[in-house]
Amino acid sequence: MKKIVIVGGGAGGIACATRLGRKLGRKGKAHVTLVDRVESHVWKPLLHEVATGALDVGIDALSFRGHAAANGYHFQQGSLADIDREHRQVVLAPIVVDGEELLPARRLDFDYLVVAVGSIANDFGIPGVKRRCLFLDNTEQAMGIRKILLNRFLRYASHEQLEERIKVAIVGAGATGTEMAAEMHHAVDQLRGYGYRIDSSLLDVTLVEADKRILPKVSQEAISAAVARELEKIGVQVFTNTRVVEVTDQGLTFQGGYFIPADIVIWSAGIRGADYLENIGGLETNHLNQLVVRPTGQATRDDTIFAIGDCCACPQPDGSWVPPRGQAARQLGHLVADNIMLMIRGQSPRKTYVYKDLGSLVNLSKFHTVGNLFSFLGGGVMVEGRIARFTYLSLYHRHLLELYGPWRGVLMILLKSLHRVIRPHLKLH
Ligand SMILES: Cc1cc2nc3c(=O)[nH]c(=O)nc-3n(C[C@H](O)[C@H](O)[C@H](O)COP(=O)(O)OP(=O)(O)OC[C@H]3O[C@@H](n4cnc5c(N)ncnc54)[C@H](O)[C@@H]3O)c2cc1C
Repeated sequence: MKKIVIVGGGAGGIACATRLGRKLGRKGKAHVTLVDRVESHVWKPLLHEVATGALDVGIDALSFRGHAAANGYHFQQGSLADIDREHRQVVLAPIVVDGEELLPARRLDFDYLVVAVGSIANDFGIPGVKRRCLFLDNTEQAMGIRKILLNRFLRYASHEQLEERIKVAIVGAGATGTEMAAEMHHAVDQLRGYGYRIDSSLLDVTLVEADKRILPKVSQEAISAAVARELEKIGVQVFTNTRVVEVTDQGLTFQGGYFIPADIVIWSAGIRGADYLENIGGLETNHLNQLVVRPTGQATRDDTIFAIGDCCACPQPDGSWVPPRGQAARQLGHLVADNIMLMIRGQSPRKTYVYKDLGSLVNLSKFHTVGNLFSFLGGGVMVEGRIARFTYLSLYHRHLLELYGPWRGVLMILLKSLHRVIRPHLKLH
């Protein structure tokens, strides 16, 4: 029986594993294994909510083991360390918890391998970023940010006289940075309801963007303008056309020498592949350590190794590259699963990927939602307010329906909505 290994169970990997598990694994037509460094899946576009406590991972995360058992694939916890192409094996690093080695390094055989390990923040080699900034690459980091914020708020809330505001700088005004800025203000408002003697006037959030407008990857400038207006209303200070050249314990220095103080700096200014991906297994990688693939998802140097999502560089007919987006990762995950099924049937992997931009929605917490839909139709249609909020939520709901199937998916959506009503609106511990 053919062995298919998918490494990384994020937006792309879990879509791929679920499709292969249901279509091949369940019927005993292939042995499908998903490997992830952690035990549960959290939808990455919601990480900023984990960071502010609006989302409780204990409730919202999906256990890989349970999902694997229900969907015809197997799960192994482990971290990709290398690919041994000669022996058709992936090499997993030892699992070490609190200094104790729980599992030694292991090797897994594969006939087909899908690499879906996502990305990390790109610090562009700027001095001080790695040492001083907080990142939103994974759940652990998001929970780390939550802890730091809660501790900081606690300290402030216990002072009778508050002399200083809490200064937060967010570098990078893509969806992550803008949503995080709004979510922080919302979190402070919520904390007040739970007895913290603080309010959002204590919070000094600055958003810094190198491009001439925030949300530079969103095609319609009107959306950037609408989001900028809303952020201003909330009290977020926005700097565009501003390049950070150094981060120190005291704050940020911009090109030209201007300095702003910051207690907390969150870095969300772009992505790249992790260091271990550079030429992994002798495969072609680009300057961002992304695995270069053909439009079929196959690595340029190996027909049986695929890469999807943020960790891949997939060319488009117009010469551009597929953007690092949740929807692209998911679409590529499905396409690669289909191509592997074709190959197992002895056919060539004929499906090629063309990114279909279904739109971008930016959710500024309770304050506003704005974006465009059907961007592939010449710029798309701009939506705001309730329709935009509904569509934003429906994207997550579609993800849940896909993971759990229609019936359990609907129940899960209802359960999550119920949780939001009956539980505290923020994770407070
Ligand atoms: C706050 C935020 C908001 C966003 N908002 C949007 C949005 O609105 N719309 C949109 O389209 N995109 C959005 N994105 C981007 C989107 O989340 C990513 O493009 C998408 O998740 C990429 O999917 P992926 O499968 O490539 O990687 P991920 O979803 O990051 O999954 C990678 C998986 O690999 C695992 N992994 C990592 N390293 C290893 C290893 N060495 N070994 C084994 N497993 C490993 C991780 O644990 C994880 O499960 C947002 C991102 C963030 C951070």
